[in-house]
Amino acid sequence: TPKAEKDLRSPICCIMGHVDTGKTKLLDCIRGTNVQEGEAGGITQQIGATYFPAANIRDRTKELKADATLKVPGLLVIDTPGHESFTNLRSRGSGLCDIAILVVDIMHGLEPQTIESLNLLKMRNTEFIIALNKVDRLYGWKSTRNAPIVKALKQQSKDVQNEFNMRLTQIVTQFKEQGLNTELYYKNREMGETYSIVPTSAITGEGIPDMLLLLVQWTQKTMVEKLTFSNEVQCTVLEVKVIEGHGTTIDVVLVNGVLHEGDQIVVCGMQGPIVTSIRALLTPHPMKELRVKGTYLHHKEIKAAQGIKITAQGLEHAIAGTALYVVGPDDDVEDIKETTMEDMKSVMSRIDKSGEGVCVQASTLGSLEALLEFLKTPEVNIPVSGISIGPVHKKDVMKASVMLEKKKEYATILAFDVKVTPESRELAEELGVKIFIADIIYHLFDQFKAYIDNLKE
Ligand code: GDP
Ligand code: MG
Repeated sequence: TPKAEKDLRSPICCIMGHVDTGKTKLLDCIRGTNVQEGEAGGITQQIGATYFPAANIRDRTKELKADATLKVPGLLVIDTPGHESFTNLRSRGSGLCDIAILVVDIMHGLEPQTIESLNLLKMRNTEFIIALNKVDRLYGWKSTRNAPIVKALKQQSKDVQNEFNMRLTQIVTQFKEQGLNTELYYKNREMGETYSIVPTSAITGEGIPDMLLLLVQWTQKTMVEKLTFSNEVQCTVLEVKVIEGHGTTIDVVLVNGVLHEGDQIVVCGMQGPIVTSIRALLTPHPMKELRVKGTYLHHKEIKAAQGIKITAQGLEHAIAGTALYVVGPDDDVEDIKETTMEDMKSVMSRIDKSGEGVCVQASTLGSLEALLEFLKTPEVNIPVSGISIGPVHKKDVMKASVMLEKKKEYATILAFDVKVTPESRELAEELGVKIFIADIIYHLFDQFKAYIDNLKE
């Protein structure tokens, strides 16, 4: 029997795909259209995530006549910058994401990061749908704003329809080469074995109703177990940020359970477990007020799934990409502290104990893990003596400078997707510590290798 609406939490959806395929624009399209039409209707741009209430999805999909079939309270779409964080969130938050949208540009077909995303999704067994985006780019396309895709396609000339079919067939073949069966969603009779393609335009909105409905229907049909609301808190730290007037805050995704103001929480920190209590649970104001810097809505409690900003004392050294735990009345804080630090321990154990090697620094525990793994591969083989998470500060430069006397080329910081403070850059120059920065792992290796080769000459 179907679960009552109140028993299900909102599914969490992540957008993936090659750069410039329209991932951000697709989100803008869903949010923006509603605002433009004055139907903001409770859509809140949450932290690193956008929450679409069921009422809104119902409204956006009404042309598809699917009113009665929505059982989830809404849909939480994770809007992570780059999918590096998604990688670690998935592996850590164990099921943070219930479903994904893999975006493919209809004019380009499968591209390198499409395939990379695809492999990630396969590896983690994540369900996904394919948005075949930019249909409006087909030569001669006649736009009907926000129309269901079947209706939109019917209005096209024979030439446009032919070009659409030709490109679709090519892309289906490309997916087959990757070992995947795909099919237009409304022709797909074997959901689960054959992946569904939804043609969309993030500019003119065709196919967006179909995409929303497919996401909701698919998740609530096949994931009732996973989506059943539970009181056990499952929560992952997305980002650690300093906010004016609030100090250091953490942005989290609450996957399940309820968080309350005043809850005692434990978070993984660079210097050990952080035990603190929630001072404020914040979400930004609805769309209109979003531009007013620094104003947030306060909540006494928030139910999953949601993106939330938490303020509390002592969060300065919290590590993004790790789990947040709530200490319940029957819990032993010491046990929870130990559990919290397990993620960190496994990463620490991978550092070279000989003490000779470069220092590496990344934005999240997950990206640090990825970087360490890469540096270990035989083709790369760069020893690491120190790690850190977050921006490069003077103390990190000091730490790296220890190598100057042992092995000069290791007096180096490989900084992956993090900022370097001006003071630490100055200090590095003064001391002779090299800092290489990149947001792609391979580029760090290239820079370091060029530096070593140069030293040898
Ligand atoms: P992302 O890198 O995947 O997030 O891609 P963006 O959302 O930033 O989009 C990249 C570019 O493609 C931007 O110039 C968008 O305006 C454009 N774009 C995205 N979606 C569409 C679409 O459906 N149709 C057209 N014509 N352009 C699009
Ligand atoms: Mg983008």
